[in-house]
Amino acid sequence: MTDAVDVPPVEESPVNRRLLLAERPVGAPGLQHFRVERLPIPVPGPGELLLKTEYLSLDPYMRGRMNASRGYAEPVAIGGLMVGQTISRVTVSQHPDFAVGDRVVADAGWQDWLLSDGRGLRKLDPAMAQPTLALSALGMPGLTAYIGLLDIGQPKAGETVVVAAATGPVGSAVGQIAKLKGCRVVGIAGGEEKCRMAVEQFGFDACVSHHDDELPRLLAEACPEGIDIYFENTGGAAFEAALPLFNDFARMPLCGQVAWANATSLPAGYDLTPRVMRVFLHRRVRLQGFIVTDHLDARFDAFLADMGRWVAEGRVKVVEDIIDGLEHAPGALAGLLSGYNLGKLLIRVEDQEPAADAAG
Ligand code: NDP
Repeated sequence: MTDAVDVPPVEESPVNRRLLLAERPVGAPGLQHFRVERLPIPVPGPGELLLKTEYLSLDPYMRGRMNASRGYAEPVAIGGLMVGQTISRVTVSQHPDFAVGDRVVADAGWQDWLLSDGRGLRKLDPAMAQPTLALSALGMPGLTAYIGLLDIGQPKAGETVVVAAATGPVGSAVGQIAKLKGCRVVGIAGGEEKCRMAVEQFGFDACVSHHDDELPRLLAEACPEGIDIYFENTGGAAFEAALPLFNDFARMPLCGQVAWANATSLPAGYDLTPRVMRVFLHRRVRLQGFIVTDHLDARFDAFLADMGRWVAEGRVKVVEDIIDGLEHAPGALAGLLSGYNLGKLLIRVEDQEPAADAAG
């Protein structure tokens, strides 16, 4: 998890360190799939600003972008900068809308510095006590949970909601919002510590481990009234355990398939398709895949108003897993896909001063 690429420490290199995709992984990503480029810190011209990366968000979708095939977005090119959302600080500004010291959410990618023309930046409220929340509950993962659960899942009080990757930023938000809506919430997570976290910190009614061979029985016991909403984050054993428990008119927001993120072939064994289709037909299940970015324009303001209030009231909690040093991003991404993270995974990027000429 803490293996590092050979990125020079910042004291020796007041430069922009950029982590590039060197090679496409087959299976799990490793350090060999990345390389480091060192470029001068860019100098903003008129209408531009210089952003220093403070935190880089690591997310499961990044593994998909390392493949050659197009998913719902273009792959990262070989030799291209790894993509990623960041909390960045304005250090130099020649842009009328941004002042030095402003914090923004940016798509700066895996690098120290970004030269920006201001487009696509979201300015954060300077009063925000914990800006990193804009990468978890008050950002993309929170919106994913909000859209998937409320718009697609349409929970009703008394229903049972099941979500895997239960302690991650999406799963934990799904569970906590479902509790606010009066549902029974059952998590599926990787091991005892995470299950305890789901119940004790996030208020789930129960949580079972997908590492346990008895997962189908344990999940059935935790869902005595069946499942009304199965929020699909993972696929794999979690889905197979949930399938027989679907109630009539159950809903399945299809959010992610992280269990198969590193898969190089179809799972061995018999073909589940007939069984899946039979359950979906007989139980009249509604399945809908969704991509969060499709909902930004229509739903972000309502989401931020609701989630902002729930977070401020302590009704939605966030646990962050912060790793120091840009050089640890490749290893941390590999760890995320194997469940080593405990909460929202962030890289805290070392502080640096811009070069004197960048300060204009
Ligand atoms: P997490 O921080 O929860 O990290 C991924 C987690 O997946 C791991 O910590 C691990 O948790 C779990 N996992 C890994 N392998 C398996 C497995 N074989 N079986 C079950 N669980 C596994 O991620 P996020 O909260 O950021 O994302 C959750 C899901 O939501 C992902 O699938 C992601 O791709 C998806 N997503 C989709 C979006 C969309 O627009 N559709 C937007 C954002 C996220 P554990 O140890 O508990 O198993």
